[in-house]
Amino acid sequence: MRKKIVAGNWKMNKTASEAAALIDGIKKEVADVTEVDVVVCPPFTNLQVAAAACAGSNVKLGAQNVHWEASGAYTGEISAAMLKDLGVEYVIIGHSERRQYFGETDETVNARTKAALAVGLIPIVCVGETLAERDAGNMEAVVVRQVKAGLNDLGDDLAKVVIAYEPVWAIGTGRTATPAQAQEVHALIRLTLAEISDGDTANAIRIQYGGSMKPENAKELMSQPDIDGGLIGGAALKADSFAAIVKAGE
Ligand code: PEP
Repeated sequence: MRKKIVAGNWKMNKTASEAAALIDGIKKEVADVTEVDVVVCPPFTNLQVAAAACAGSNVKLGAQNVHWEASGAYTGEISAAMLKDLGVEYVIIGHSERRQYFGETDETVNARTKAALAVGLIPIVCVGETLAERDAGNMEAVVVRQVKAGLNDLGDDLAKVVIAYEPVWAIGTGRTATPAQAQEVHALIRLTLAEISDGDTANAIRIQYGGSMKPENAKELMSQPDIDGGLIGGAALKADSFAAIVKAGE
């Protein structure tokens, strides 16, 4: 039985003091939650404050990106060891906004994933097709390619990865994939995982849905057999809506 995981992707939102306040609010709301892993992913600048706010609670800390090199002349970048040292446990990799605006490719997703795993961070690897790709009948090919290339050559570490299926057309648009549409792709991802590993590993890997998930639709989405939680954008910026989604996963 896979434990559900609900993670908040705060994107470029919240100052450090706002982050501390939001985490305090989330902690109070989810204090009794044991059946769902709860993760917040604030901007890099808030991680230290956020780590202190999360300490001793059931709210875990994630980052929104990581560089693939261990150290060196990479101005503006952040290494996996730097994140780990702050108490970060998860890191989002290959979000569609990074693919769209910052030149992220399947190859860099794979390099970042390996760097994260090497220090013991759990990567949340994002995949998902654009509307144009779906309309052209290419959804399957795109998602399978992203899964195979992004998770290439991870060996036994593959079992530690979390995948987020985020159809790009559903992110920040208010347009959610129907539970049936999402389940179809999640099943495809699990089938692809079985191809590149084995049945047990494919069965153990958690696959989150992301794209306008909110309290009103979270339960039905997370009731699908292959949907193991959510990656939440807009609704993660308020304690009550984020907590309601977490509780929908119980
Ligand atoms: C996201 O960006 O990961 C996301 C799912 O955003 P939203 O929930 O706002 O669609």
